[in-house]
Amino acid sequence: MPIDATQPYDDQNIFAKILRGEIPSKRVYEDDHALAFHDINPQAPQHILVIPKGSYVSWDDFAAKAPDAEIAGFVRAVGHVAREAGMVEPGYRLLANVGQDGHQEVPHLHVHIFAGRPLGQMLA
Ligand code: IMP
Repeated sequence: MPIDATQPYDDQNIFAKILRGEIPSKRVYEDDHALAFHDINPQAPQHILVIPKGSYVSWDDFAAKAPDAEIAGFVRAVGHVAREAGMVEPGYRLLANVGQDGHQEVPHLHVHIFAGRPLGQMLA
């Protein structure tokens, strides 16, 4: 079920548990600001999720509240993950779902990275 992006942060959400190492994930990258791991239900040949280490419900929460250093670190981490995975050529897609109409299901900000096939004009 999609979440309300304005809800308070719930530290029992599944990505918070992945960050704390309480449940397993296929990790591909970690630094001070971000953790990247494979999506459990991939929608493309390569489908990686990148999450900030800070407690942010959504992209909106992050953009409004995160310190500049966290935003810069997270954005650089997303780029690094895609580059290291060899996605820059022929290309990739970034997606951050927000709230009900965005169909965000996990209430911890995550950016999807899709690659490995032509992705068409939109992912719907
Ligand atoms: P959303 O709709 O943007 O919130 O996407 C949530 C994503 O998290 C979906 O693509 C799920 O497949 C993925 N997901 C949910 N649980 C796990 C997990 O435990 N490990 C990895 N990915 C997960």
